[in-house]
Amino acid sequence: MCHAPMRNCQPQSYDQRTKEVRDKPPANLSLKQRLVLKVFGKVYLRHEKRQGWKHALPIYLTKCPIHGYFEDYPHGWEGYFQCPQCWKIIRVEG
Ligand SMILES: [Zn+2]
Repeated sequence: MCHAPMRNCQPQSYDQRTKEVRDKPPANLSLKQRLVLKVFGKVYLRHEKRQGWKHALPIYLTKCPIHGYFEDYPHGWEGYFQCPQCWKIIRVEG
């Protein structure tokens, strides 16, 4: 039973991918997107409207230092991202 939702309650073996795979940006990124990702630490992918959302939100690709790349929309008014696996908050300038 997990009593600490903000902590990483998953066993370390949860992410079966190797570090090389996790640290590789998705193959469908354009050269320009890869550049933006490298320089700014995040890159805009698309706008997406999910169930319960009033408006479409921008989806970015950013990176968790432990779990590698993930897609997320900016949270809160400062627009941070949160790794879906360890809930680590990723703050990217800009
Ligand atoms: Zn993570």
